[in-house]
Formats: sequence, C-alpha cells, structure tokens
Amino acid sequence: MNAQQTRQTFLDFFEKKSHHIVSSAPMVIKDDPTLMFTNAGMNQFKDIFLGNSPVKFPRIANTQKCLRVSGKHNDLEEVGHDTYHHTMFEMLGNWSFGDYFKKDAINWAWELLTDVYKIDKDRLYVTIFGGDEGDNLQPDMEAHDLWKAHVPENRILRGNKKDNFWEMGDSGPCGPCSEIHVDIRNNQERAEVDGATLVNTGDPKVIEIWNLVFMEFNRLANGSLQPLPAKHVDTGMGFERLCMVLQQKQSNYDTDIFQPIIGKIADISGIRYGAADKTDIAMRVIADHVRAIAFAIADGQLPSNNKAGYVIRRILRRAVRYGFTFLKTDEPFIHKLIPVLSEQMGSYFTELKSQQVLVEKVISEEEASFLRTLSHGITKFNNYLESNQQNALIDGAFAFELYDTYGFPIDLTGLMAREHGKEVDMAGFSKGLELQKERSRKDASIEVEDWIVLDDKTPETFVGYDTLSVTTKITRYRKVHTKGKDAYQIALASTPFYAESGGQVGDRGVLKSGDQIIQVLDTRKENNLIIHLTGAIPANPAEILVATVSEDARTDTANNHSATHLLHHALRNIIGTHVEQKGSYVHPDYLRFDFSHFQKVTEEEIHEIEKQVNSMIRQNLVLDEMRDIPFDKAKEAGAIALFGEKYGDSVRVIRFGNSVELCGGTHVHATGQIGLFKITSESAIAAGVRRIEAITAGKAEAFYHNQLSLISEIKELVKNPVDPVKGIRNLLEENQKLRGQLEQISLEKVNELYHQLMAGSRDINGCRLITGKVNLDAGSAKDLAFRLMDASDNHLIILGTLHDDKPGITVAISGPLVNTGKYNAAAIVRELAKEISGGGGGQAHFATAGGKNPGGIESALVKAAALVARIAS
Ligand code: ATP
Ligand code: MG
Repeated sequence: MNAQQTRQTFLDFFEKKSHHIVSSAPMVIKDDPTLMFTNAGMNQFKDIFLGNSPVKFPRIANTQKCLRVSGKHNDLEEVGHDTYHHTMFEMLGNWSFGDYFKKDAINWAWELLTDVYKIDKDRLYVTIFGGDEGDNLQPDMEAHDLWKAHVPENRILRGNKKDNFWEMGDSGPCGPCSEIHVDIRNNQERAEVDGATLVNTGDPKVIEIWNLVFMEFNRLANGSLQPLPAKHVDTGMGFERLCMVLQQKQSNYDTDIFQPIIGKIADISGIRYGAADKTDIAMRVIADHVRAIAFAIADGQLPSNNKAGYVIRRILRRAVRYGFTFLKTDEPFIHKLIPVLSEQMGSYFTELKSQQVLVEKVISEEEASFLRTLSHGITKFNNYLESNQQNALIDGAFAFELYDTYGFPIDLTGLMAREHGKEVDMAGFSKGLELQKERSRKDASIEVEDWIVLDDKTPETFVGYDTLSVTTKITRYRKVHTKGKDAYQIALASTPFYAESGGQVGDRGVLKSGDQIIQVLDTRKENNLIIHLTGAIPANPAEILVATVSEDARTDTANNHSATHLLHHALRNIIGTHVEQKGSYVHPDYLRFDFSHFQKVTEEEIHEIEKQVNSMIRQNLVLDEMRDIPFDKAKEAGAIALFGEKYGDSVRVIRFGNSVELCGGTHVHATGQIGLFKITSESAIAAGVRRIEAITAGKAEAFYHNQLSLISEIKELVKNPVDPVKGIRNLLEENQKLRGQLEQISLEKVNELYHQLMAGSRDINGCRLITGKVNLDAGSAKDLAFRLMDASDNHLIILGTLHDDKPGITVAISGPLVNTGKYNAAAIVRELAKEISGGGGGQAHFATAGGKNPGGIESALVKAAALVARIAS
C-alpha cells in the first residue's frame, strides 16, 4: 500500500465510524503564547478540551502536520541518525469529545491495524498505564481488560508515568494512555530475543506507532488532579512509521515518502544513498529538514532572527551544513528538492503546490546567504588557528562567537578543530550558550496563577461587532506575574473587546464597576478565550460591571482594517493574482500588508493602487457581513482563504463590492467612512515578499495637509504663488548665470593681478622676486602663482592671501631656481607663516600655509624680501 492510499484508508475508516474529517491545522501556531508549532494532532482542539469552545462534532479524525524541534517535544538530534524520528511528520488521529471512550478507541485501533492494514498480530505489543503513587493513581485495568480481548496477557505491558500518562502542559487536561508498538525484526531476531523486552527501550526495530490517550483529569497549577466532567479520547499515530511497516521497510526513509527526495539529493551530489554512513545520515537529515522548512514557509512562517522564524532558519542551516560538510555541496541546492516534494505531497497538502515558487525562492536565498557566512566563518576560524598555533584547545567563547555571529553549528566547529588536531573547549562554549538561554528564558518567563472561576455556566461571548459597550460580569480571572509586575487577566460573560488576532491589534478601553474605573490595557485570545489585560480587578469581582471599548481607537482601526481589504483587492487587480497575503498588521494609526510578489512595485503601480482604493472608498460600498456561514459556502462566494490560517467549519465573510475575504476583524459600515487612503512606503522584507504601509482617514488628511503647507512655504519663498515650480526653476537658472559671471570676473581679476605683480617684480641676485597681497581663495591663488612661476626660469613668488578673513601664504619657485639647491618653498613658507600665527608646508617648488592673524600679512611680505635677500646672497 503506498503512502497516499495509507492516509486515505485511515480517513475512510474513521469516516465510516461516524467521524467528521477535518483538514490539518497550520503547522505554525499564531494565537497560542505557549506553543510555536503544532506538535500533536490534538493542539487544534485544545480549546475544546479546556471547555472554551463548544463541541460541534463529537467525533473527529484527520492527519495533522506536526513539528517537534523545540520545547517539550524536541526530536532534532535523533533525526537522520535514527530511522524513525522526524522534525516534521504527519500524525493520524481520531478524537472523541465526551462521546466514546476507551472501549471503542481500543477496538477500532485494533480493527484498523489488523483487519484493514493487515499487520501481523504477532508483531504488536501494547502498553497500559501502570499507576503512580505520587498522584495516587491505580493501574489502568479498564484498558488492560479491553486489550485482553485481542492480545495475550504477556504482550500487555505496564508503563510508568513518563511513557503512559499524557499531560497537555504543566496544568490542564491529562490522563492515562495506551500505546501500540510494532516489532519489525526478522524471524530469527524475533526468535532470539523476546520483543516485549525491547518495547520503549529505544530499539529502532521495536517502535511505538500509535498512542491512545484517555483524558479524564484536569491538572491544577498546584499539581493536584481533578476528574473532568466529560471524558475524551485523543489518539496519534505516526504516518511515516505506519507506511514503513506497511511497505515492509526497516526505515521510514526507505518508503515512497522519502525515496524520491533522497534520489534527487543523490543526483545533485553525485553520491549514492547507501555509499557510506556519514553521507547517508546527511541525506536523511536533508530529506527530513526540507519538509519541515517547506511546510513552515507555505504556512506563512519565513525564516528570521527570532522565535518561530529562527527555529526554521536553524533547521535550514543545519541542512545546508550537512550538505556542505558531507556531500560537498557549496552551492544552494535544497530549493531544488521542492518540486520533488511538491510532486510527492502536493495533492493532499495543496499549499505546497500553490506556494511552490515562493518556497523555492525563500529557501534558495537563505541557502545562499548562509553559504556566504559559512565561508566567512571558515576564514575567521583559519585566522584564529594561525594566531593560536600553540594552543591545543579552541577557545569556547570563540566557538560561541562562530555559532552566534556566523550561524556556525558547534559540531561543524568541532569537526574543523579535529582536522587540525585540536578540540573545542566545550565547557566554555556551553557557558556562552547557557548564558544566552538564560537571557531568553528571563525574557519569556511569565507566571500564571490558577483561574478563579466565578461562573462556569455562562459561555464567554464576543458582542463587539454590534456594540462597543455592554453591562456584563466577570466569569473568571487570574493573576499573572511578568518581569516583576503583577497584572490580571479577566474573562467576561459578554464582551465588546476585540482580542488581537488576524493582524488586528486588541481593543483598549475601561471596565466600570461601581465607582471604580479599571483600564483595559490590551485584549488577547488564549485557547479561544478572550482575555482582558488589566492592572487591577474590581473590589468586588462578582458584581455587574460595564465594559466599554475606546471608540476613537476602534474607529481608526476599523478604517485601517477595511482599507487593508481594499488594498489586497487592488493589488490582485493591478499587479496580479499571484499576490498572496503573507501577513498584515492593523493598528489605529496605520496599516501594514505583506504579500508575495517578486519585484518592486513601481511608482505607477503604487499610484494606480491608491487610485483604485480611493475610488472604492468614494463608491461608499456598504459592508456585507455574513456570520457563521459554512466554509465551503464562503469559498463559493469567492472569499480568499489564506494558507497558514486556521478556519473553523463556519466562518465570517466580509464583502465590500468585489472584495471578499474571510475575516474575523472589525470593519466600517460603508467604505466612505475611510475617507482617504495613502501609501506611505513600499519595501522588500524577504525573498519574494513585499511590504506596503499605508494610512487612512485623519492620518491621511494630516499627511496631505503637511505636504500642502510645505508647498505654501515654498511659494512664499520663491514669491510665485501661482507656479512655484517655475519660480524655483527661475531661481536655479539665475543662480547658474550668476555663477558664470562670478567666474568670469575672478578670471579677469586674476589676469589684472598677474600683470600688476609682473610689473612689480624685482631682481635680487639673479632671482626675480614677486610679492603681493591678494584677496583670492586658495585655488585661485595657486593658479596665479603657477602662472607667474611658469612665466620665467628665475621667478620666486610669495603671495599673502586673504579670503573669508583667513590669512594665508603661497610660495612658488621656478624649476631652474629650485635646482640650484638654494631655494625651498616649504622652508620659506614655514618661516613666513610665523607672522600670521600659522603653519604649513609643501614641496620645494610650491608650498602654502594658513594662519589666524590677518594683520600679519604685511609684515610677512616685508620679512619675505629680507629672507630672500639673505638666501640669494
Ligand atoms: P517516541 O517515543 O517514539 O518519540 P512519542 O512518545 O514521542 O514517540 P507521541 O507523542 O505519543 O510519541 O506521538 C504519537 C505518535 O506519533 C507516536 O506513536 C509516533 O508514531 C509518532 N511520532 C512521535 N514523534 C515522532 C517523530 N519525531 N517523527 C515521526 N513520528 C513521530
Ligand atoms: Mg518522542
């Protein structure tokens, strides 16, 4: 059975068992502060388990894109070295929300594996939770007895809390789990060693494929367990591992999921897969990493320098480095694997196909840029070696610098060190790393206390599309502590406050409880619960209060949000439908829109876009809002859905004329309210991604007002109220003309001076001395001196100059005179400069000096005559 069929069989099986099939949520998580990437199928249902969202379908199944490279689940170091852990993998899962429990979950899992997929029953082992004293929990005998109907007693193994008790986090839903393991060894190996002894020991041939979690408790922040009112099932099966078993392979990488990519890597590098351990590992690492990177980018997460973006960048660099070191690839090549990946997975995960060009561009640029630092780092490393030849250890702080500044993985530094018979001081390196981690831990740490629940019957609802103020009450609140400050998070029965999402900032405003007014500083969403951030709570939290959103900010934000839709629409009209939204930020003061496009948006295009948006504003298009319509209906209506966004089954559609978008944000009632739209900047933010920033309404008006004041001022200055441009042109022309005249005049002046000075020359012992005081700048004085110097073989010129109140002395001497060895302009100028309180120098035939005392020019010239007489005699 090939991979496609295996996936479809799973979905069909559970569909027949009345499960609603949903699509994978994005791998990159945008609205959960506790998690950057989806690491299990259940993540997208967290808010249902927590009771924050209603259960629409009690039974669900899907395949989910997961990434395990950070936090609680980090398999990065295993990847490629073993054969069954990946960074990105698909998790097949089925869920029950308060519906079926252990019995059906266990029976169906068994039926699917043995009846449908026909896995040999003798190769399967199961584990159950063996109990835990600390939590005062008994072994899960219910699961044990259910398994006994299928599996002999000696294949039902008891596991500890680490393997067989699943928890969502430090607090929250949890419960015992039951895993299914498969033994893929050959018969001889199986005869020699009992598979049961290898379960959960890290043996690559006796591995877990499916985990069935039975959620029955809620763990409180103080560590104690409370039974959940409704019990749930959450299962997760590794798709790649399942394919390996069904295709009778010994490694996930030998299945049709990975083989095409590995084949392409072999082609590019000219190295055969299977040729050597080291090159095999490199090929597996690259084949694995390219999937993680491609899916992350397709989901809208570009590589960057922080948070989720940095995780992706590191994975990519890791892949580049494996290629560089072991496959000797010194040119970008990973992007060339994307067409193969898209061919292999693009029919189920269509985002890979539709985003293919962008994914390739981003990867190829990242590769090229890291390859540049790679070789810089290597140069830096070689320089270090040269100046530290006597040391056997590479300084840990230096290794950390390579890691931190040049993006050098430490194992590469280690490898290069060994090639030169040296080792890296790992303790020093770890210290640098620890310090850095400590810094980021401090930045991120927030302590959260348990919710204090005042009302768990009333569902929290958002009413802010229709009103900005309601009388309501607190349903729960909790204290949070960040960076040494206490704050509160408050949930309300009904709230007009919009929580930050879809790029739109959270509302601010006030809660009025009796006489007490509490500022709402921000509004966020956590697991679908709207949380109001405040610095205080009402004296009596259970009392009725009035929640009111700041109207001005909300209006400005709505203007900018609706304008963002119009901009998106105009962009697609004018520069093409390849424009895909890559991010947006809607603030009361401005809006920002990021989109895929491969060159600069030209001036003319910008102008066209502004014109089109403003025309849609003037048409005063009335908001057509459809709340809670089925996703498919929305798409039929032409709504643009974004990859990397999580949409529920029912969605909200916002339409202004031909602009139709899925959107949860707040909008104007008719576009006329936006008033005016103006783009303020256009720039590149990453390979293939551009950013436009714009302003609307009052801010746009202020912008034009400022421009107009500027023009008024110019009109006044150029004294041409009707045509200031003509006024400025006239000024420039006049300026040009005057400059020409000035040059002419000074030329004439120099000519006149030349003749005057020549006439005043006198002979001193065969040398003709020419002196005089001139009001010329340095350049003109030099020209004049050179002309005088060239006029004869025996001229010695000494000019005292005055320009802009600054005195100077210029000395020039004809060549033949210099050649006598008696006369030196630099020596003369130094001597005379004393008179003007200055200094200078130059060459034997020409030298200048500047000074501070204009009154000294006359005496310098008197002194000059005496000096020359002395030299000449
Ligand atoms: P393991 O002990 O093998 O790392 P796990 O206990 O971390 O597995 P779960 O968190 O229970 O696994 O995830 C459910 C299923 O997802 C596992 O049974 C396994 O088949 C699959 N799985 C888990 N981690 C990975 C991974 N890194 N790559 C591929 N499949 C995985
Ligand atoms: Mg694991």
